[in-house]
Amino acid sequence: MSRFYTFTKTSFVRGMQCPKLVYLDKYCSKLRTPPDRDTLLRFRKGREFEQKFKDMFPNAVDVKKHCSIRSIKYVEFTTNALAAEGCVELFEAGVLHGDILVLTDVLRKNDDGSYDIFEVKHSEKINSAIAWDVAVQYYVCKNALGNINSFNIVNRRGDDEFVVTDMTAEAEEKLQLVHENLNAFREILQGFEPEVPMGPQCDEPYVCDFKRYCMAKADTQCSM
Ligand code: SF4
Repeated sequence: MSRFYTFTKTSFVRGMQCPKLVYLDKYCSKLRTPPDRDTLLRFRKGREFEQKFKDMFPNAVDVKKHCSIRSIKYVEFTTNALAAEGCVELFEAGVLHGDILVLTDVLRKNDDGSYDIFEVKHSEKINSAIAWDVAVQYYVCKNALGNINSFNIVNRRGDDEFVVTDMTAEAEEKLQLVHENLNAFREILQGFEPEVPMGPQCDEPYVCDFKRYCMAKADTQCSM
């Protein structure tokens, strides 16, 4: 069965780190270097931090408990839940705009029909990847839901203190850039592997998991 979406927030953010990743993620994912122990530990801490924040919304419904992974049911369940009167709080709400699917960490529909959305990151700083993560989610949510009251990043201070930053204005300014980059990514998927020389983008903001492939490309075959 073919997917009902082409991009997720993760694939968009990876493309903003390096356009070649758009192509490699889609056609050559087996060439990735698997995450090491430190990376897996970081992922686990991130999930635990996110869960602590979610614990502050005891009435929220966790969409993923009602759906198999990334199925269209995420979107259907979310749409039906948001059609209810009054305040609705959801974890992992599936929001689709065109061919882009995002799952929001915490989404709240207020009594007046506006939305507050929270993206949780176990990080003390807002780096470029986090800013693009917010920007693409905002782009999808604004187009699909309208009336976004606020889009917030929840960062960490110290061990487990939450710092909430309203990113709405910054995300609003990036709407056109998100649109243009999505179009560029769609073109990449129609063509050949882009020629991108290795450089600072291979380590910033995250170490790229295709570094081994790019370094040894002369000896490696990548076929669609
Ligand atoms: S290793 Fe560098 S050039 Fe290769 S895909 Fe990753 S970021 Fe792009």
